[in-house]
Amino acid sequence: MFNTHNRPRIMLATACLLVASIGSLPSVAQTKRSPVAPNRERVEAAVREAYEKFRSDTNGKNADYIPYLAQVDSKMFGIAVVTTDNQVVTLGDVNYSFSIQSISKVFTLALAMGELGPDKVFEKIGSEPTGRPFNSPLAVVDMPTHTGNPLVNAGAIATTSLIPGRNAAEKWNKILDFYSRAAGEKLVLIDEVYKSEAATNTGNKALSYLLAKYDRIYADPFESVDIYTKQCSVGVNATQLARMGATLANNGINPATGEQVIKSEDIPHILSTMTMAGLYDGSGGWAWRVGLPAKSGVGGGIVAIAPGKGAIAVFAPPLDEAGNSVKAQEVIDYVAQQLNYNLYSPSSVGLK
Ligand code: GLN
Repeated sequence: MFNTHNRPRIMLATACLLVASIGSLPSVAQTKRSPVAPNRERVEAAVREAYEKFRSDTNGKNADYIPYLAQVDSKMFGIAVVTTDNQVVTLGDVNYSFSIQSISKVFTLALAMGELGPDKVFEKIGSEPTGRPFNSPLAVVDMPTHTGNPLVNAGAIATTSLIPGRNAAEKWNKILDFYSRAAGEKLVLIDEVYKSEAATNTGNKALSYLLAKYDRIYADPFESVDIYTKQCSVGVNATQLARMGATLANNGINPATGEQVIKSEDIPHILSTMTMAGLYDGSGGWAWRVGLPAKSGVGGGIVAIAPGKGAIAVFAPPLDEAGNSVKAQEVIDYVAQQLNYNLYSPSSVGLK
């Protein structure tokens, strides 16, 4: 079994033990099976091949502007696929809890839409790619909306500020509960990550005040940054992240619990936003190569969504210049090709 806390060192021991471990949560209340959910053997083979192909790639570097992230073992590597019919295929370090970081932005966007409706969220935040780094103050100044989109820091902090609640604690609990329902398991804050980021997030505080200058933040700026910092510090493992993604792939229904977590009519807005901005200034190249909505986090996770089929989540800390995990991009690109997931390819719907 490979889905334990062990390290790649142990996994290197023998290639013949490389077997994707498969499991499913006990209570599956799935009512409708997607007609395009992929065949289990093909998923297992693709995951195994990708793991072997990219395990020794040492390109990229851990994020270090959040001190905690610089200390994370950069050799860790885990892959999880969860399909819309709740098949679970995992390999590598898939039980290690890493900080969700920017991937949280997707789920706060979903929660904001659930609370306020998509039109209001679009009016308050917008959905234009910035073409700039995720933490760019220049984008706030330049973009006509100032917020840009919900997946860059400024737009994300503003999206967090939209979550209703009588006080900060109520807003935060609502966010954490929502993420947990998307994951199908109770998620918790990694306190050390939160403390490490809260002590160093002057850039995000500056963004929040810049937004205030343009009337584009909708609650107290520093309170919003604090809640945002907490949401980025939520711990997930690769399997939980894949299940959060599979909830998006499955029209908002968590494939493990059967709960409609996100309204189905909100899903296209979320996925299109992920396509345009999920990998920041790497989003265009990603869409060109892979053709799947995805979201990265500087904690080393990326989740990609194949609508109606499933989600691929990969955890590997070293990042490229834009802040996207190098190995996660390689693995998802490979697995998506093997499974014919590219949305823009006619073969993704069976046309040869
Ligand atoms: N919490 C991080 C930040 O605000 C998230 C950035 C990311 O994952 N790209 O900088």
